[in-house]
Amino acid sequence: MKLSELAALAADEQKAEAFLQSRGLLPRFTHCPYCKSEHLGRVRRRFYKCYRCRREWSPRKGSLLEGLRLPLGKFLLALKLFELEVSARRAARELGLAYNTVHRLFLLFRERIYQSSSQEAQLSGEIEMDESYFGGRRRGRRGRGAVGKLPVFGILERGGKVKVEVVPDVRAETLLREAIRKVRRGSLIYTDRFRSYDGLVCYGFRHERIDHGQRFANGKVYINGIEGFWSYAKERLLKYHGLSALWFPLYLKELEFRYNHRKEDLFEKLLEVLKGGMN
Ligand SMILES: [Zn+2]
Repeated sequence: MKLSELAALAADEQKAEAFLQSRGLLPRFTHCPYCKSEHLGRVRRRFYKCYRCRREWSPRKGSLLEGLRLPLGKFLLALKLFELEVSARRAARELGLAYNTVHRLFLLFRERIYQSSSQEAQLSGEIEMDESYFGGRRRGRRGRGAVGKLPVFGILERGGKVKVEVVPDVRAETLLREAIRKVRRGSLIYTDRFRSYDGLVCYGFRHERIDHGQRFANGKVYINGIEGFWSYAKERLLKYHGLSALWFPLYLKELEFRYNHRKEDLFEKLLEVLKGGMN
């Protein structure tokens, strides 16, 4: 959706409500949820009222917006700013909302993205696997086993999606467990020479290794795809310097989501994800 269209929608609470209903983010009430009567009306603050049992309820009842104290129009604008990677602090200023309100909202978006990622299908075909380290001190020991850094395991389907996960360690059993969960058996997996990948063949995967020195020399045997994701993610995480290990998995999944849908309309994709959390 264009910003101008969204602005028109956001300026009118009734239109914003109809839009959120049409995308399944707000329920459509045709019956009273208490007595099932169809004799409903709208009263102050756009609440529904049942003319049989006399009860009233919010149009947000039972939706993810139920506990949020902001106009529906501002909710839509906040979602747009989130799509555009505007920080919660900046978005709060732009929208005239309290920082805590927007911070909680953005956290909700990230939680829904995190939940939706676990429901996706297994990867298959040609796969790249690699581990990388995030956070910690900028200087010091580098590479595998570096102190104070979070190990992240990445799996990328060529021409498809990437799946990343914070892992407790990069031991063989940890990485193999992730591979079995996320990749269909029989897929062809490319990795570097790290020994934790030794067992892949035992679990029904085909496995090709690359030498870091001659990565581009042997035709298809490369892991450029997953390394592309690492630089994408690290560049974006720079602005969150000092991000705590507690929140890191949420931000990482957000980047996975952004990367996987980078060629799609991200606003529409976000609406879908938020709708998915409605059930
Ligand atoms: Zn009723």
